[in-house]
Amino acid sequence: MKKIQMVDLKGQYEHIKEQVNQSVLDVIESTAFINGPEVHQFQKELEDYLGVKHVIPCANGTDALQIAMMGLGLKAGDEVITADFTFAATVEVIALLGLTPVLVDVDPVNFNIDIHAIKRAITPKTKAIVPVHLFGLSAPMDEIMEIAKAHNLYVIEDNAQGIGATYTSKDGSKKKTGAIGHVASTSFFPSKNLGCYGDGGAIFTNDDDLAHTLRGIVNHGMYVRYHHDVVGVNSRLDSIQATILRAKLPNLDAYNMARRNASRKYTKAFEEISNIITPTGCCKNGNSICDVCDCHVFHQYTLRVLNTDRDALVANLNANEIPCGVYYPIPLHAQKAYADERYDEADFTVTNQLVKEVISLPMHTELDDEQINFITKTVIDFVTK
Ligand SMILES: *Cc1c(COP(=O)(O)O)cnc(C)c1O
Repeated sequence: MKKIQMVDLKGQYEHIKEQVNQSVLDVIESTAFINGPEVHQFQKELEDYLGVKHVIPCANGTDALQIAMMGLGLKAGDEVITADFTFAATVEVIALLGLTPVLVDVDPVNFNIDIHAIKRAITPKTKAIVPVHLFGLSAPMDEIMEIAKAHNLYVIEDNAQGIGATYTSKDGSKKKTGAIGHVASTSFFPSKNLGCYGDGGAIFTNDDDLAHTLRGIVNHGMYVRYHHDVVGVNSRLDSIQATILRAKLPNLDAYNMARRNASRKYTKAFEEISNIITPTGCCKNGNSICDVCDCHVFHQYTLRVLNTDRDALVANLNANEIPCGVYYPIPLHAQKAYADERYDEADFTVTNQLVKEVISLPMHTELDDEQINFITKTVIDFVTK
């Protein structure tokens, strides 16, 4: 059996090696390292793929979130609602900008921000909601957009884990995640579903004026060379990363399909195991992994294990040379940096439970049946012993 990896970047590279190597060499020969034609081409191709009017490339997914919030003109003291159960980048940029993070609980079935908790958290100071399409499954965007409309709030989608996912609205219309809110961010960190070979990120919007503002912010607040109209940052995607992303983007749907196929096999193997809850694979159809709306791109395949010592399971898998992850072991409201007297433990019952139960299994585009069978057998042996 091939050695099991949490993410197999080498195996994926082997399939596109010649193309990637040649295009990287071409960029080096061209010496257009920054803001070169490759960045511009990638931007256009990603706009077409997502069905969004504007893609603004930047240096990483955390910058993308920060720049999106700067572009919306959010001011110190404005409250921004986001999920308690996610990667810290989301709350970090809210705090860095002097905005007030308002963390709320998540839904135990889809792990995404709980719409009832959003409604309860809204105050006159609330200015924006940041749903995170956690683990690759779209947050309930119909409901979130309705709440935002009713309260005149911005929606900033954190699409770092969801790129390529499709969301089907109640009226049957389909959109890619990241093309639904007022603005969205993504990350091209190597292990993300569309990863480059270093750091990278992008902001998406359909709003022409906002896109213009964002293009200046990423470039030191310049709209005309050496005229700094607003306080900006330096945040760029470089041409080498862009050319690698151009080679990978045409494969993104196939990559996500490979992840869904592996997820389906995992879920099938765990079907009869009563103390394992498999991830919901579709934002509409409960537990099935749906190919109709393609709403889950399985950035992570995350189980909940009940009546089991989760940390002992992690140790057991590691002892069997099966890497795994705990995303995330500590709720954000309980992190030192983001703790706040405003928070009441009773408002975070789901996150507090999930952090004890979740475990993410190896998930990437190169998993084979032999590996999946070994992983599922090892997990089942442990949780049923
Ligand atoms: C990875 C990630 C980010 C940050 O992306 P970087 O490119 O690493 O800065 C932000 N939000 C979520 C949900 C992520 O998973």
